[in-house]
Amino acid sequence: MKKFLSFSAVILIFFVLADSSFAFTKKELKSMGDFLTPFVRFSLENFDVKADGDDDLLHLGDPANVYHLISFGIDYNVRYNHSLIKFCEDPDCKLNGLMTIDGKYIKETVKKFFDIDIENQTVTDEDMEITIEYDGKVYHFDGDVEGEDYSTVVEKATRNGKIITMLGTFYSYDKPFRKFEAAAKIHKYKGKNTFAILSLKTGEIIQ
Ligand SMILES: [Zn+2]
Repeated sequence: MKKFLSFSAVILIFFVLADSSFAFTKKELKSMGDFLTPFVRFSLENFDVKADGDDDLLHLGDPANVYHLISFGIDYNVRYNHSLIKFCEDPDCKLNGLMTIDGKYIKETVKKFFDIDIENQTVTDEDMEITIEYDGKVYHFDGDVEGEDYSTVVEKATRNGKIITMLGTFYSYDKPFRKFEAAAKIHKYKGKNTFAILSLKTGEIIQ
């Protein structure tokens, strides 16, 4: 019996050490959630940042998928940095979309969130048949980001070196929307510690 108890104690200690959630404060968990919310808001789910792989994930490290990074960059700035969005000033402009944003902000947003360096370019999403045109300086696009309200609760986070695994729930209008598992790395951007996403996998929509 004594032997059994000590074995349990060893197992217990193992789990306490393996589960390093205690290392994060509520504020840190909140900042992780805030970091993840734009991904669900702009419907970028089930991806990783590798160049390839044989699973069902979208591989954002593959240059063929750069559309998704540029589209995220535009959506993010429309929503969170609206002052960077300008009307096209050229009355004879032949490019598609009345609104513009300087490509440098798209590169910066992609670097910040994904730690991926992109070249600004005209991109097409073959599935959606949407083209975002780049004129060498600015991207052209139309429309606004839909106003649906999302938030994220990280319920459990574990750290392994610079990599943090996060488990939690995305909420839409304060109702549970999808469960997720994300991995991000601690990443210095413009001198500040933030996260860069490594992968995000979401569950079915919660009815
Ligand atoms: Zn224009």
